[in-house]
Amino acid sequence: MLIDDLAELRFDNRFSDSLPADPQRMNLTRPVEGASFSWVRPKGMAAPKLVAHSAEVAALLGLSDKAVASARFTAVFAGSEVLPGMAPFAMCYGGHQFGHWAGQLGDGRAINLGQAIATDGKPWYLQLKGAGPTPYSRTADGLAVLRSSVREFLCSEAMFHLGVPTTRALSLVTTGEEVMRDMFYDGNPQWEKGAVVCRVSRSFTRFGSFELPASRGDNELLKKLADHTITECFAELVPASGVIDAGVYAAWFAEVANRTADLMVHWGRVGFVHGVMNTDNMSILGETIDYGPYGWLEDYDPDWTPNTTDAGGRRYAFGKQSQIGIWNLVRLAHALHPLVGDTAPLQAAIDGYGARYSAGWRAMMATKLGLEELRDDADLELVQDLLRLMSGHETDMTLLFRELARVPLAEVATLDPLVHLAAFEAAWHGTEEGAEEPTDEHRAACLAWMQRYAARLATEPDLSGEGADLRRRARMDAVNPRFVLRNYLAQVAIDAADEGDNSKVLELLDTLRRPYDEQPGREHLAQRRPEWARSRPGCSMLSCSS
Ligand code: AMP
Ligand code: MG
Repeated sequence: MLIDDLAELRFDNRFSDSLPADPQRMNLTRPVEGASFSWVRPKGMAAPKLVAHSAEVAALLGLSDKAVASARFTAVFAGSEVLPGMAPFAMCYGGHQFGHWAGQLGDGRAINLGQAIATDGKPWYLQLKGAGPTPYSRTADGLAVLRSSVREFLCSEAMFHLGVPTTRALSLVTTGEEVMRDMFYDGNPQWEKGAVVCRVSRSFTRFGSFELPASRGDNELLKKLADHTITECFAELVPASGVIDAGVYAAWFAEVANRTADLMVHWGRVGFVHGVMNTDNMSILGETIDYGPYGWLEDYDPDWTPNTTDAGGRRYAFGKQSQIGIWNLVRLAHALHPLVGDTAPLQAAIDGYGARYSAGWRAMMATKLGLEELRDDADLELVQDLLRLMSGHETDMTLLFRELARVPLAEVATLDPLVHLAAFEAAWHGTEEGAEEPTDEHRAACLAWMQRYAARLATEPDLSGEGADLRRRARMDAVNPRFVLRNYLAQVAIDAADEGDNSKVLELLDTLRRPYDEQPGREHLAQRRPEWARSRPGCSMLSCSS
C-alpha cells in the first residue's frame, strides 16, 4: 500500500530515542560533549520548488506519485514543514581532515528529520542537506547551493544504479533563497540559488562519530554509539546472548574494514574519485557518503583529483583511495581500541583489508576484461600494461572498457589496426582540434597489447567457438558502464538548471538509472569530454565550496 499523504509516514527514531541528546536547545555554534546529537529544526525556506525526485527511493519509502506531487512533499523536503513523528536533530562527530585531527565537526548543514519506516520494515534516516544552520555550523551558514545539490542528488542515484554502495537521495528542491559563495576561494563571492537535497540511508554514522568521544576519553558515549550501531546495522554480529563484548567489537571493525575495501574496489571499477576522504566523510556502513568535489575519471590518470583544495598534495587522488581507506581505518581502530582492549585483532583486520582489497581489485579487473580471474603474473602484467598504455596517451577509461567488449577477438590470427584499435580510437583524445594525436609508437604498442589480449581470451574456458565475442560482451557490459556522470555533463545540467531549465537534470537522472544498457538516442550522454570542458571550472576543477 502506497502512501498518498506524507503525514501517514511512520517514524521510529531509534538513534535520537536511545542515544544521549545535547541538553542545550539553542541553535548556537558550540562544543557539544557527552551527547551524540543536538535537537535542531530546519529553518524553513521562502519559496521551495521541487526540481527532481528519485522514483526508486520514493518507492522504497512507500510514497505514491500523488504524495511526491503534493505541496507537502516539497515543503517537508525543503525543511519548511516538520511532520508529526519527526524529531529533527544534527549529529555530533569529529574527524581527521587532510591528515590532521580537526576536533568536533558535526552536521553543520545536515538535519536528520527522523527515521522513517520503509517498505522493507526498516528505519531509514531522512536527512536534509542545506536546510539551515545547526550547533555544528561553526562559521558557515548551514545552506547549500543548487550546483552542489544537483551534483549530490544525481551522483548518489547514479552510484546506486551502478551497484556501488551509497547513501541515496530522495529529492532535490530549490529554496527560493539565495546563498553567497566564493566558488574558488579567490575573493569573487557570488549569489547562487539555494537548494536542499533529502538524503536517505540506514545510517549516517561516520568513522569520525567514534573518533570524537574517543578523543575526549568519553568511553561511555563511545560504547553507547558502538552498541547502537552494531545492534541497528550489524545485527548479524550480535550473539544469541545479546552480549556485545570485545570479540564482537573486533568482528565489527573487521566487517567495516572489509566493506571499506570493497567500496574502494567499486570506485576503482567505475572511475570515481571522492575528492575528500576525510574520516568524517567515511560511512560506518561502507557507503559512499558526502558528495562534494568528487569527480569521474575521464582520462585514465591515477594521480588525478577533481578537488582544487587538494591539488598540491593530491592526497585523495584516484590511485591513492585504497591507501587512504587504510589510513582512515587506522584512525577508526585507534578510536575503538578502548572497546576491543587489544591491538592484535584490530591489526589483523587492517591486514585483512590489504588482502581483501588486492584480491577484490584483481577479480574486478578480470571481470572488466571478460576474464574469469587473473590466473598468474602474466595476467596481472596484461592488466598493468593496459593501465600503462591508458596513461601513456589521454584515454577515456569508461569508453575504452565499454568498447573493448565490442572488438571482435575470437579466433583472430593477425590483428588489423582498422578493426582492432577501434576501442582505443573511441577512447583516445586527439581527434579534436588542438588536442595531441597518439604517436605511431603508441598505436603499435596498443595493437600489440590487443594481440596479447586476444591470445589470453583464447585460453578462457567458455570464450571460444560460436558466439564467444557476444558472450564476452555480455559479461563485460555488466561491469563496464556505458553511462557515468561525466563531470562536464553534470555542469551542463547545472548551468541549465540555474537558468530554470531542469530538463537536463531529469534526462541525466533517467539515463543513469540504466548505466549498463545501450540507450539509443542518448549517445550524447556517453561522449568523451569535449575540449572546451578540459579546464572549465566545474568540469574538471571543483572546490569544497558548496
Ligand atoms: P565536508 O568537507 O563538506 O564534509 O564538510 C566538513 C564539515 O563542514 C562538516 O562538519 C560539514 O557539516 C561542515 N560544513 C560544510 N559546509 C557547510 C556549510 N555551508 N554550513 C555549515 N557547515 C558546513
Ligand atoms: Mg562531510
